[in-house]
Amino acid sequence: MTRASSTSCRLLLERLSAYIDGDLPAPACRRIEGHARHCRRCSTVIEELRRTTGLCRRAGEAPLPASVRKVARERIRRLMKAETNRPPAPGRRKRR
Ligand SMILES: [Zn+2]
Repeated sequence: MTRASSTSCRLLLERLSAYIDGDLPAPACRRIEGHARHCRRCSTVIEELRRTTGLCRRAGEAPLPASVRKVARERIRRLMKAETNRPPAPGRRKRR
């Protein structure tokens, strides 16, 4: 299925900061990763964040340094803003 709804993309982005903080339980992490597998945009975002933060240290590992989290959060915020302001994809406009 290629119906990547922007709603779930936004949900994913909203959760990313918790994901980075390691606040999400493993199943939720897996859900995010599962979505990213089908969604290029989100996988790019995660890939990029992962590169910056060494993301998703599983439970029990040391938390990320605050400076790294701050950078990641800012990045997410910017991405979310871009996501919100993005016009509907061409050819996907709702017909009335
Ligand atoms: Zn997505």
